[in-house]
Amino acid sequence: MKEPRSVIDLHCHSDHSDGVLAPQTVVQHAAERGIRVLALTDHDSTNGVAAAATAAISLDVSLVPGVEISVSWERTALHVVGLGIDPQADALRDGLIRQQTLRAERAHLIAEKLAKSGVPDVQNWLAQRDASSCTRMHFARYIVERGLAHAPGQAFKHYLGRGRPAHVSAQWTTLDTALSWIEQSGGIAVLAHPGRYDFSATKLRQVLETFRSAGGYGMEVNYSGCDKGQINQLCDLAKRFDLHASLGSDFHDPALPWTRFGQLPQLDDRIPAVWHHERLQPYVAGLLQ
Ligand code: AMP
Ligand code: MN
Ligand code: MN
Ligand code: MN
Repeated sequence: MKEPRSVIDLHCHSDHSDGVLAPQTVVQHAAERGIRVLALTDHDSTNGVAAAATAAISLDVSLVPGVEISVSWERTALHVVGLGIDPQADALRDGLIRQQTLRAERAHLIAEKLAKSGVPDVQNWLAQRDASSCTRMHFARYIVERGLAHAPGQAFKHYLGRGRPAHVSAQWTTLDTALSWIEQSGGIAVLAHPGRYDFSATKLRQVLETFRSAGGYGMEVNYSGCDKGQINQLCDLAKRFDLHASLGSDFHDPALPWTRFGQLPQLDDRIPAVWHHERLQPYVAGLLQ
């Protein structure tokens, strides 16, 4: 028997960060693939939320305003998803403007290093785009376009990843500060894709403990690339650290089949889901009746 797929997806990207589709097209694409509740969670930006919310109305999708904040923690970048945030709240808006300034500064440093590594015309290319929303994924795609890598993953491996010639370690905000922006904007904080960091099992438990004690509410237990065994392990960790369960495809690009909408299995109901929080109730009310 085919396992039922989740119609809730709480993590994806538009072209306001490193997704390739405009927010309205992201929502349309999600709707076509059966998603009924969708959170748009661009990197350090809520600029796509209004357009996504407008499109969602006619597509009968419930759009959860979201964001994915980059956080520096012990020399690693953690990603914290804020769900049900108010993009107009001062603390969040001002905080994200600071993150965008850091992005722009880092992008210029990366471009300089890539130029030194022989990537042609990269500084001109950057000058023609908005550096404040520029992620390493944008550089990775450019490197592929110039024929210097066959896929973004290879561009990370050769140029952009840690220890590679164009790596620049950014000083993102702290975990406590990111959590306070989310809280002050009325949202809930979820640790994104816990299995994707380069952590040992011990270190991961330490992160979850720190995240929970700092006021984090949930963690993703189910995202693109997780098999059944990993989902089970993540559910065990959520239970152990008293974190609610979230799930999301981390969709960026319809050309990447492994991050498509509508493929994630439903959440195991032994762990309470993040949408039981009263802040998210209005978004799922139509579904859970
Ligand atoms: P940034 O926040 O600018 O450091 O960019 C991080 C983004 O790059 C992530 O959200 C992913 O979309 C993408 N990314 C990071 N590492 C890889 C990798 N090894 N292969 C492909 N994409 C990656
Ligand atoms: Mn990304
Ligand atoms: Mn992420
Ligand atoms: Mn993401």
